Amino acid sequence: MEIPIIKKDVIIVGAGLAGCAAARELKKSGKDVLVLTKLHPLRSHSGAAQGGVNAALSEEDDIELHMFDTVKGSDYLADQNAVELMCSKAPETIRWIEKMGAVFSRRGDGKIAQRPFGGQSKPRACFAKDRTGLTLLQTIYEQAFKEGVEFWDEWYVADILYKDGKAYGVVAYNLRDSKPAIFNAKAVMFATGGYARAFKINSNAHANTGDGLSIFARHGLPLEDMEFVQFHPSGLAGSGILISEAARGEGGKLYNSKGERFMEKYAPEKMELAPRDVVSRAIANEIREGRGVGPDNMAVYLDLTHLGEEKIMERLPELRDLALTFLGQDMVKEPIMITVTAHYSMGGIPVDIDGHVRKNKEEFVEGLYAAGECACVSVHGANRLGANSLLEALFFGRHVGESIAKDLDNISFEEAQKIEANRMLEEMEFLLTNNGKESTAQLRKELQDSMFENAGVFRTEESLIKQKEKLKELKERFKNIRIEDKSKTFNTDLQEAIELGHMLDYAAFIVEGAIARRESRGAHYREDFTKRDDENFLKHTLAYMDEEGNITLEYMDVVLGKFEPQERKY
Ligand SMILES: Cc1cc2nc3c(=O)[nH]c(=O)nc-3n(C[C@H](O)[C@H](O)[C@H](O)COP(=O)(O)OP(=O)(O)OC[C@H]3O[C@@H](n4cnc5c(N)ncnc54)[C@H](O)[C@@H]3O)c2cc1C
Repeated sequence: MEIPIIKKDVIIVGAGLAGCAAARELKKSGKDVLVLTKLHPLRSHSGAAQGGVNAALSEEDDIELHMFDTVKGSDYLADQNAVELMCSKAPETIRWIEKMGAVFSRRGDGKIAQRPFGGQSKPRACFAKDRTGLTLLQTIYEQAFKEGVEFWDEWYVADILYKDGKAYGVVAYNLRDSKPAIFNAKAVMFATGGYARAFKINSNAHANTGDGLSIFARHGLPLEDMEFVQFHPSGLAGSGILISEAARGEGGKLYNSKGERFMEKYAPEKMELAPRDVVSRAIANEIREGRGVGPDNMAVYLDLTHLGEEKIMERLPELRDLALTFLGQDMVKEPIMITVTAHYSMGGIPVDIDGHVRKNKEEFVEGLYAAGECACVSVHGANRLGANSLLEALFFGRHVGESIAKDLDNISFEEAQKIEANRMLEEMEFLLTNNGKESTAQLRKELQDSMFENAGVFRTEESLIKQKEKLKELKERFKNIRIEDKSKTFNTDLQEAIELGHMLDYAAFIVEGAIARRESRGAHYREDFTKRDDENFLKHTLAYMDEEGNITLEYMDVVLGKFEPQERKY
């Protein structure tokens, strides 16, 4: 088969906020950059973000407080050098995107309005109604496009070109006709987003299947802190579709079946605006102890009726629409039913603050970068605060773009060989021709159900070991897969099977990291080890997968700083 080799200075995989911001920066500095994305850029999950983006902008706020809130929210696992960089650049990042055309909601005096979010000492989230992500994504995509960045959408990247600690391109196929191509470059950046699709109830787009992580892991590269998956307190009952934290920020109250405002028990000071891990565990506990509402008593009430129609329509119009469409409940007139939903990936590809990808604790891979939700730079540590990740994606996307531009002259160009596409071609051939009995949909369902059950909000040694066994079983059964569509045109059967393979791989990292972490910290809650254990676990997990799929762990120091670890109370 003829396989074209396309040569560029830089290849970026992913066109969400992080990918677009990096691409614009690189193009502006005169580099030849190409963005590959399996979706149209504007369909990236960044566009679904509702609530806001943080910056200490107002007179009453300051950067140090933003840093402190972020480090405390992270349960002290965040690297404080990364937090300092991001928080100190946040105001400038907002002004930068605003000058490029993002229209933020305003206060009466014309300044940018900011709403309170969980775990923040001040109202800090800048927003565009409840369509913040879409506003930001449209702006940065438009600006990257204006600069002349080349976007190739509906290209699925399935492998990297990697040898001896150096990356020099990617292997991809065109979703339209399944034709492969090699993209050969001096530098490659991944901005492929999050991995919460491994859980049954989740708020993520269908595309958030953690491809980038598993692609790296299959080359023996490490993944960091994968056990930390954030469960958001408010997904719509049943579907898990997100009802942004903005709903609580604007004054939403939570009630159980007895009409009790139960947050009084769990976080008497911050109440509904405690951080997400705290509120999620409170909701899950109310449900578990039989005080849930709705079908199977698997939800609690979120009441916004006291805000009145005018405020709801001004501040939360999308949320009202979502609850009406997917639950048939009108938040103007009645409380709506919500439940805990898998939402955000704190773990990911280990990078330093300039986006260089780690090969191990000491070394970095030449020519390989990552930013946004797929990366773990670690600004969120064990728990992300709401409205900090749009900031992360925008700021680090741009910053890593600059960092690549600086490095580029010192990176040598390695010629790609056509045989390097074989790994992807063999995978495609196997999936298209294997005549087994298992279906992608069934295996994915069992993966998502069991992950939610055994590696979800509450975890124990027993549930995690059970999950490890389940994943082994699913991986074995995956070898016996059969896909029905054998065609070459928009073969979504094939794509979903490749994505399932990725999900099975990174799910094993979540479980393995969680088994070993015998403590509770941030989003990782062990019922058999309910306390945080700084003596043994104030450290990042680095995990590696071998050819047989076995995972080994090592640990890396947290970059501490001026904020000493304290008990986390709200
Ligand atoms: C419903 C929802 C609401 C949210 N609300 C907020 C909020 O209010 N505030 C906040 O701070 N954060 C919020 N977040 C989190 C935040 O939106 C994300 O962390 C952030 O937008 C991620 O940006 P990204 O650029 O890293 O990735 P994404 O925007 O997810 O983009 C990933 C890109 O990678 C591409 N890609 C992936 N795999 C491949 C592959 N194999 N081949 C080719 N391309 C690939 C995709 O096509 C896509 O373009 C929310 C998240 C969700 C799910």
